[in-house]
Amino acid sequence: MSAAGSGERALREAVIATAREMNALGINRGKSGNVSARWRKAKFDGYLVTPSGMPYASIKPADIVALPLAGETGAAPGRRHPSSEWRFHRDIYRSRPDAAAIVHTHSPFATSLACLRSAIPAFHYMVAVAGGDDIRCAPYATFGTQALSDHAVAALAGRHACLLAQHGVIATGASLETALALAVEVETLAEMYCRALQIGEPPLLSDAEMETVLVRFRSYGQPQGGAA
Ligand SMILES: [Zn+2]
Repeated sequence: MSAAGSGERALREAVIATAREMNALGINRGKSGNVSARWRKAKFDGYLVTPSGMPYASIKPADIVALPLAGETGAAPGRRHPSSEWRFHRDIYRSRPDAAAIVHTHSPFATSLACLRSAIPAFHYMVAVAGGDDIRCAPYATFGTQALSDHAVAALAGRHACLLAQHGVIATGASLETALALAVEVETLAEMYCRALQIGEPPLLSDAEMETVLVRFRSYGQPQGGAA
């Protein structure tokens, strides 16, 4: 990596802090999961992503990998290989101008639902925090593949978050903070839904009610839902 400007250095540090925070918050464990942030400068349009297989506690700013949106391989000029999931980070940034950051975790309750290939339906109004009346579960594909990325992008249509079957969660945001907060919210909803299912089958809010909630979220000027 050549000398990074102060803006890039700060963003690399923010990506590391977010990765550490997702583990500290209990929504991810060990080296699984990954974090990225969109990064543009004079001749570079891409993103900064956590490296593959490194404990977050030991990652330094220079270990964060810069990849171009136009890239078709994970080859990077720096000293580290990117997360094996660089394809879905790239493809989400390509297809979603609203996404400036991505947090991917294997949070336990959301992943439990994903292992059942279950979406999170409108059992609670806060499901709308992800942008719609459910949080979809993308079909299964092998980790790191283009097929997984294609499924993720489709499941994120009109949403800021999705589950990945037999795998985990993706949360996007206009900043690292909002992406991380959404990952926490998805895990909270997943835990409530799992617990409710242990007691019975929760009734779902109607499409009309969820539309009302979505409109209220938008009118608060906090599109990712300043929790009421
Ligand atoms: Zn994963």
